[in-house]
Order: sequence, then structure tokens, then C-alpha cells
Amino acid sequence: MEDARGLLKQYFGFDDFREGQKPLIDAVLEGRDVLGIMPTGAGKSLCFQIPALMMPGITLVVSPLISLMKDQVGALNQAGIHAAFLNSSLSMGQYRKALDLAREGRYKIIYVAPERLETEGFLRFALSPGVDISFLAVDEAHCVSQWGQDFRPSYLKILSFLEKLPRRPVLGAYTATATVEVKEDVLDILNLRDPLVVTTGFDRANLFFGVKKPRDKYRELESYLREKEEKMPGSSGIVYCLSRKSVEEVCYQLREAGFSVTRYHAGLSDTERRENQDDFIYDRRQIMVATNAFGMGIDKPDVRFVIHYNMPKNMESYYQEAGRAGRDGEPAECILYFGAADQRTNRFLIEHGEDNQELDEETRRIVMGKDLERLKQMTFYCASSGCLRHYILDYFGEDSGTECQNCSNCLEEFDLSDVTEQAAAVVRC
Ligand code: ADP
Ligand code: MG
Repeated sequence: MEDARGLLKQYFGFDDFREGQKPLIDAVLEGRDVLGIMPTGAGKSLCFQIPALMMPGITLVVSPLISLMKDQVGALNQAGIHAAFLNSSLSMGQYRKALDLAREGRYKIIYVAPERLETEGFLRFALSPGVDISFLAVDEAHCVSQWGQDFRPSYLKILSFLEKLPRRPVLGAYTATATVEVKEDVLDILNLRDPLVVTTGFDRANLFFGVKKPRDKYRELESYLREKEEKMPGSSGIVYCLSRKSVEEVCYQLREAGFSVTRYHAGLSDTERRENQDDFIYDRRQIMVATNAFGMGIDKPDVRFVIHYNMPKNMESYYQEAGRAGRDGEPAECILYFGAADQRTNRFLIEHGEDNQELDEETRRIVMGKDLERLKQMTFYCASSGCLRHYILDYFGEDSGTECQNCSNCLEEFDLSDVTEQAAAVVRC
């Protein structure tokens, strides 16, 4: 039989495993549960896709988002691997057909939405004679935790689904969220048995982190972009805004000012979103102004800066979005513009937004409390006068030196007193 490295080359075209991948793959092949905690872009998918190819039966991958499933299944099919997804984007007829093919053993890997696990049709498939589920991989496993940034109650169904199977498959959980609370929840709630836990480094040494408190955010942004254009003409960057409205405004102003700019948010049509995204990826436009709807699954290596025009709602979101800079390992800048209104807006979104609407009253209250706590931690980041990298890594449970010499606090490039006072005032109220 092919070994893991052979498959890595044959199907994915890579010569070497990245940090953490091999031990996670080997453990699953030995029948051991695993928890892989690796930052976004580290390569978690291969950690379950390669064992899936090597195990005798079917692998189920639980995934929270239709777009993620489509991307991954599309990529697998292109690589010549038989994979399918089962989610609400399929019509009833397509869904039944997919289940029939699955029952016939046509697919090696099946992506499934958590809501589907306990539906009658899916259970009938999973319990059919001859169907052998070797491995169940839970992608974005933080969704199981109320401490995670996107708690999904349907993830709680995974365990009861497992209990219905005649033989318990090997269980793997994968996430980029490394906080202690989330990790404990994933281990507990999924009931991982003597798992191998692998955490790979979260530090991104090539990224510069900065916090600013501009009096006029737009002017600050424009002068930053002009300076960039002078020093590094043609470089790509993302500007994240909290609302669609500010995306529209900032994009319009920058365009008027002569910048090569496009935009992305959930209010645009699918076609326009795709076009704009491609314009950015293929360097037809240099600057992408977007809400947090932009970025999932986007792997542009040469993003040189990520500016947050507003403070995001928590450190997980911030680090994920900022982390889209400098994937190629070359220096890149991540700068957050902090304004007093940002905390109020986020608070409003947590209390009245759509995020947690599907939860029952009691759960919503708990999740909201945790969201507000995380917002506070985010605000402390903006108020911190210590090393920003240290703050980030500490938040994600990683030890680090206290002076990175590559953040605005270590270099004291910016006017600190201003930021600190403002943030302190916001935290107090
Ligand atoms: P994650 O789920 O951890 O965010 P992905 O699984 O989506 O990351 O992988 C991110 C990118 O890294 C993909 O483009 C993938 O092809 C690439 N990648 C994964 N493993 C390797 C490897 N061993 N060598 C080179 N590239 C890899
Ligand atoms: Mg992933």
C-alpha cells in the first residue's frame, strides 16, 4: 500500500509534510483519536484527507459551511479522489442519489453538515449492512464549544450519532482556535479517547502588528496607502470594515482618490462577489475593502498589509483576518485602527445581531456573556502598552518572549498614550 508521503505527492503534489501533519496522520492510522490545533492555512485538511485514503472504510468529515465543503470536495475530485458532500445545497433528488452512491461504496470521503447526521435518511445509510465508517473527522471543531467564536448547537449531535454506530470510528478533531476553554470543551464534548493532541506554533514572525487611534480614520488610511504605493508600488492589501455601509463608503472614497480598489460583502450578488474576489486575487485590483465575509478559503500568498478599519469582535477573528497577510513568509503589516465607537458597535451586534438567533433563550444568554467577555479581551489588546505579539500568543495559550521588536508597542512607532487612554475610557464604561 502507498505510504502517506507517497499519497501527499501523488494526489496533492507536495514533497514534504508541514509541522504537525505527519504525527496527526500516523496516530489516526494507528487507530488513535486526535486533536489538531493549527492556525488557519497550516494545512489541517490533509491531516484527515490522507488517512481517509489509507483506511479501509469510509471517512465522514463534519464541516460547518457549505462553501468549505464545496471547495474541498471540488479539490479532491480534481485530484482524482472520490468524494461528495451532503448538505442543504442539494435537492432532495440529488441528496438521495448521493446517498445511494455512498451506500454502493462509491465515495471514500463524504463531507456532511452536522444537521444531517441524525436525519433518518443519513442514519439509514450509516447503518446499512456493508457500510463501514472507519474515521470521523470534525473540521472546525471549535463550533462544538460555546466558547468558540461560532458555536453551532448541531455540532453537539456528533456524539449521539457516534453512539448509534455499530463500531465506533476513529475520531479526529481539527481547529484553529487554541484557547484553553475551547480545547477542554472539544476534548470533553466529543469525548475523544486518549487522543494525541498536536498544537503547532501560532506565531507568525513575518507579520508586524500595530494599533493606532487615528483622529480621522479615513485620512490615516489614505496616507498609509499613499506611503505604501511609494515604497512598494503595486502591493496588495485588505481593508476590513465592520459594516457593509462602511465598506461602501471607504471603497468609494478610495476609488475617488485614485486607488485601485474593489469591495466584498454579503449584500452584493454572487456574481459581483466572485468577480471582485478574482480581481483582487489575480492582481487586477490592489486593494480589497471588505467585511469579514471576505477571506474564508482564500489563499493569496502575497497580501502585504491587512488594515482593520474597525476593531473586530474578538481576538480569534482578528488573528484570523490579520493572518491573511504575508502567507508567503515575506514581511507584511497588520494594523488595527481603534476608535471609541468600535466597542459600542460590536456590543450592539453581539446583543442584537443575527449570530446567535437560532439558539434557545438560555443558551443565547450564556453565549452572549462569553461573546462580551471576548470583546473585552479584544479591547484590552487595543489598550495594551505591552508587546502585541506577546498579548496575542498569550491569549492563544502560547508562551512567548515579552518583546518581539516587530510590533507598534515594542517599536513605539505610534502615539501610545493616546490609544491607551481612549481604550481605558471605553473599557471603563
Ligand atoms: P487549514 O484548514 O489549516 O486552514 P488547509 O488545509 O486549507 O489549511 O491548507 C492551506 C493550504 O496549505 C492549502 O493551499 C494546502 O494545499 C496547503 N498545504 C497543506 N499541506 C501542505 C504541505 N504539506 N505542503 C505544501 N502545501 C500544503
Ligand atoms: Mg480548514
